[in-house]
Amino acid sequence: MTALLRVRDLTKHFPARDGMGVTRAVDGVSLVLEKGETLGIVGESGCGKSTLARLILRLIEPSGGAIEFDGADLLAQGARAMRKMRRHMQIVFQDPYASLDPRMTVEKIVAEPLDIHRAGTPAERRRAVAELLELVGLDAGAAKRFPHEFSGGQRQRIGIARAIALRPKLIVLDEPVSALDVSIQSQILNLLQDLKTRLDLSYLFISHDLAVVEHVADRVAVMYLGEIVETGPAAAVLTAPLHPYTQALVSAIPGAGPELGKERIVLAGDPPSPGDVPAGCRFHPRCPKAFERCRREAPRAHAPERGREVACHLHE
Ligand code: SF4
Repeated sequence: MTALLRVRDLTKHFPARDGMGVTRAVDGVSLVLEKGETLGIVGESGCGKSTLARLILRLIEPSGGAIEFDGADLLAQGARAMRKMRRHMQIVFQDPYASLDPRMTVEKIVAEPLDIHRAGTPAERRRAVAELLELVGLDAGAAKRFPHEFSGGQRQRIGIARAIALRPKLIVLDEPVSALDVSIQSQILNLLQDLKTRLDLSYLFISHDLAVVEHVADRVAVMYLGEIVETGPAAAVLTAPLHPYTQALVSAIPGAGPELGKERIVLAGDPPSPGDVPAGCRFHPRCPKAFERCRREAPRAHAPERGREVACHLHE
């Protein structure tokens, strides 16, 4: 396999709101996305996964680290080169209500990336929009209507049509089904799977919901307080999680925890703020397996099995 995206030691530190110290939203994240792969990035809200998505697309600038996209150093690109590269990297947001301009027709919304990149003549763009709407399962009559005339699932289809308009290589899906009813979620997940195969796409799939990621991801990276604590093939991570945090997340998936006779692991307290990161292992105040060393020494990532990594002293 060939890597489409390589992220090394990526950080984003914001000045804290009170002007004292820093908020470590993303703190030394490294990951690889192979061509044709779906990598799920999972964690509770506030763990830094959406900031990571925006850093990778350079919608915000990192404080440090490196991003290589399709063999190019992304952070070395000037504004014009970056605009060209953006056509290969698109994002679908969580909230289809907020991410579509209510004053624009669907035709204008879907054609916007084609217009910006001057892809084809106006007539060709109109034809392209009709094809895109068909690809995402909307009828051609949708083109002249406005976003408020559609259901949540249909609006997410419009957002997806816009994201694939320029035939990108990478799509970052930031909680793409979290705002939808469960019955609609699986339709959108099936559509994404279908488009991935037909259009040769690679996905970074960001979600707080491990049960959703289980359906779509080839590999999973679990984030906690700005760091990746475990990565591996989705099936292995979900059936035999190594990190105590992943074990707690997996135990909460319906059908994976109490129903199978396994105990649900309820974590104490909320995640600490990224502005006040605990010393040692960041997870230690909530970890049911914490021991003395965890309070003073941060664990490094180890590879206990081929293709898997975990940052926990228990797996050294
Ligand atoms: Fe828990 Fe210690 Fe492992 Fe951190 S290093 S996850 S506190 S056991």
